[in-house]
Amino acid sequence: MTDTVTNWAGNITYSAKEVHRPHSLGALRALVAESARLRVLGSGHSFNEIAEPGAGGVLLSLAGLPPETDVDTAARTVRVGGGVRYAELARTVHAHGLALANMASLPHISVAGSVATGTHGSGVGNGGLASSVREVELVTADGSVLTVRRGEERFDGAVTSLGALGVVTALTLDLEPAYGVEQHVFTEVPLAGMDAAEVEAVLSAAYSVSLFTDWSRPGFRQVWFKRRTDQPLPRFRWGTPATETMHPVPGMPGVNCTRQFGEAGPWHERLPHFRADFVPSSGAELQSEYLMPRAHAVEALHALDAIGESVAPVLQTCEVRAVAADAQWLSPAHGRDTLAVHFTWVEDMAAVLPVVRRVEAALDAYDARPHWGKVFTTPPSVLRARYPRLDDFRALTRELDPAGKFANAFVREVLTG
Ligand SMILES: Cc1cc2nc3c(=O)[nH]c(=O)nc-3n(C[C@H](O)[C@H](O)[C@H](O)COP(=O)(O)OP(=O)(O)OC[C@H]3O[C@@H](n4cnc5c(N)ncnc54)[C@H](O)[C@@H]3O)c2cc1C
Repeated sequence: MTDTVTNWAGNITYSAKEVHRPHSLGALRALVAESARLRVLGSGHSFNEIAEPGAGGVLLSLAGLPPETDVDTAARTVRVGGGVRYAELARTVHAHGLALANMASLPHISVAGSVATGTHGSGVGNGGLASSVREVELVTADGSVLTVRRGEERFDGAVTSLGALGVVTALTLDLEPAYGVEQHVFTEVPLAGMDAAEVEAVLSAAYSVSLFTDWSRPGFRQVWFKRRTDQPLPRFRWGTPATETMHPVPGMPGVNCTRQFGEAGPWHERLPHFRADFVPSSGAELQSEYLMPRAHAVEALHALDAIGESVAPVLQTCEVRAVAADAQWLSPAHGRDTLAVHFTWVEDMAAVLPVVRRVEAALDAYDARPHWGKVFTTPPSVLRARYPRLDDFRALTRELDPAGKFANAFVREVLTG
C-alpha cells in the first residue's frame, strides 16, 4: 500500500490509495463483480482525471496479469493483454517478422489505455492506433467476459471507450509484414505563403510526418519525416537538413530520440520519436492536443500563429500531425481526415490553463476536438455537438454498465454534462 498514486506527469493524484493488481483473470472478474466503482489505470500517461475512480472507488492495474502477446503469423494478427505496453508488443511482433501500421511518439504507453483515448501517430494514410484493433475483450460490470469484433454493430463504440464500458483484458490487432523506416529531420520550414495544397504536400511527404514549432515566430523549427524503405524517397523541398541529432523539445538531449540522418531501422525503432529505454519528451510537462478537419489546416495554423505571443512563454514544443479519418464513435478523428495540433506545456497548470483557453477559443471555429487523455476545458455541450455518435455511445454504456460502475466524473460530464 502506498500513500499516493499519481499519473506519469505527477499532476493527478488519484483518490484511491492503492492500485489493485489481480494475478489471474478469475481474480480480476471477481474484483469487478464485487466493486461498486472501478477504473483501470493503464501506464498512467494521461494528463487529466480520465482514470480517476472517485472517492471509495477501486483503481485497477492489469500489470499483474501474464503479459500476453500471442502472434498468429498466418492470420497476421496479435492478441495482446490489457496491461501490455507498445514497447514489449512491438519487440515480439517484430521478432515474428511482422509489424504494426503505426505507433505514437513513445512506446512506453499501454495498448489498451492508448486506444481507449484515441491515441494516434502521424500520416495522412494512417488512422489512430485504434484502427488496428479487430477484436476487443472486456470484463463487464457483472464480471462476465464479452468479445466485440470488427463488423459487429457495437464495435465502433467499443475500442475508443474512455474506459467506460469495462476492463479491457485483451485486444486483437491487425499486423502486416515488417518494414524498415528511415528518419530525416529538416529545420526552418516556413508557414508564410503555404496554401492548403502545400500544407497537405508537406504532411504527405512521407509515411509519417511531424512538424514542430514553439510559436515564437511563424513557421516550423523542425520537420520529422519518416519514410518507409519500401516506398519511394521523395525530395523534401521545404527546409534544410538538420546537422545534429534533434529532440523536439529544445535543450533536451538528442540521445533520447530514435535514430535520424536517414539511417534505416526497424519500424518500431523509428516510428516513435522517443526510445523505449529513455525518458520520453521532457518528463516535466503537461500536454494538450486538438484535432480538427484537415480542410481547416491553413486557417487553424494561422489562428495559432496569431496568438503565438501568449502561447510561446508556457510552451516547450508544439507538434502538428495528420491522422486519417476513422469510424470509432469517440475517436477525435471520427469521420474526418484530421490535423492534430499538440502542445507540450511547461509543468505549471496555473500558468498553462489560461493559455489552453486561448488556444481553444482560437480553434473554436474549426470544430476542434480535444485529445481525451490531455488537458482541456472544452465544455461538455461543445463536445456533444462535435461527436455525432455520442448518443449511441451513451446507449452502449447503459446497456453494458447500467449501474454506472465504470462511469467516473470525467465520463459522466462528457456523456451528460
Ligand atoms: C510523453 C507522452 C507522449 C505522448 N504522445 C502521444 C502521441 O504521440 N499521440 C497521442 O495521441 N497521445 C500521446 N500521449 C497521450 C497518451 O497516449 C494517452 O494519454 C494514453 O491514454 C496513454 O495510455 P495509458 O495506458 O498511459 O493510459 P492511462 O492514462 O493509464 O488511461 C487512459 C484511459 O484508458 C483507460 N484504460 C487503460 N487501460 C485500460 C484497460 N485495460 N481497460 C479499460 N480501460 C483502460 C483508463 O481507465 C483511462 O480512462 C502522450 C503522453 C505522454 C505522457
